[in-house]
Amino acid sequence: MDRWIEAKRVDGGWVLNGSKMFITNAGFADTLIVAAKTDRDSRHHGISTFIVRGGADGMTLGEPLVKMGWHSSDTREIVFDDCFVPEERLLGAEGRGFHQIMHAFDRERLLLAAMGVGLAQAAFDGALAYAREREAFGAPIGSYQSIRHRLSAMATDIAAARLLSYHSAGRFDQEHPTATATAAMAKLLAARVANEVVDDAVQVFGGAGYIEETPVAMHYRDARILRIGGGSDEVQMEILAKRLGL
Ligand SMILES: Cc1cc2nc3c(=O)[nH]c(=O)nc-3n(C[C@H](O)[C@H](O)[C@H](O)COP(=O)(O)OP(=O)(O)OC[C@H]3O[C@@H](n4cnc5c(N)ncnc54)[C@H](O)[C@@H]3O)c2cc1C
Repeated sequence: MDRWIEAKRVDGGWVLNGSKMFITNAGFADTLIVAAKTDRDSRHHGISTFIVRGGADGMTLGEPLVKMGWHSSDTREIVFDDCFVPEERLLGAEGRGFHQIMHAFDRERLLLAAMGVGLAQAAFDGALAYAREREAFGAPIGSYQSIRHRLSAMATDIAAARLLSYHSAGRFDQEHPTATATAAMAKLLAARVANEVVDDAVQVFGGAGYIEETPVAMHYRDARILRIGGGSDEVQMEILAKRLGL
């Protein structure tokens, strides 16, 4: 099957065919915004977006995917097989989909950056509390230099990711020319920091960190998607490299 969902003009609207893997909350959505190719031969101007009702005829959902983390979110494939969409459900103008998606990506990347900062902070808070309370070899583990320095480095990295996230949110609000680049940087940094911090937090917890009962094990599993979803690390770096003129 084609990588793109295709939309063909018919009397009174459009017919969608194709599939898209990994759709968050597909099983709950009453309304979906679907990006589809309306012109095969045009790259950026060949994409349009459509408002599709959940459960529309010709739309089927795959089974919920079993994920490493993010267990509270539903993720599925969506398949369109001659799914009719009335003319008035074309979102905005035909061929504006690429522009709409790019703008939505900046927002999504900011949200994912904020998610990374929050996740890292939660893992850090847990690790700090544990370092104060847990005693090993006759002293709280937070008194050992390797643990106290690790926590200091974690706090520094989280502060840096938080500040860049706020900065890039400001740029987005101002519709600043660097908004896309700063959103990519914030997402890249916050996702990396989240992954490093959750790994360090598990280390501070020792064996207890490997047990599902402690939230830090969940944080560890949940952090990984942040380096992939909303455009992977590599994709963010490509965005930045292009803006560096490379
Ligand atoms: C839990 C979950 C929820 C998701 N929710 C949604 C959703 O709601 N809506 C939605 O549209 N998508 C969603 N996705 C999809 C997600 O955005 C993609 O998985 C992600 O963008 C990576 O794309 P891919 O899986 O096709 O990987 P691929 O594109 O196959 O990439 C594989 C590897 O190659 C690298 N790579 C790819 N292209 C390049 C390049 N040009 N240069 C350098 N390296 C490259 C990638 O960085 C990655 O390391 C979700 C995914 C998951 C796992």
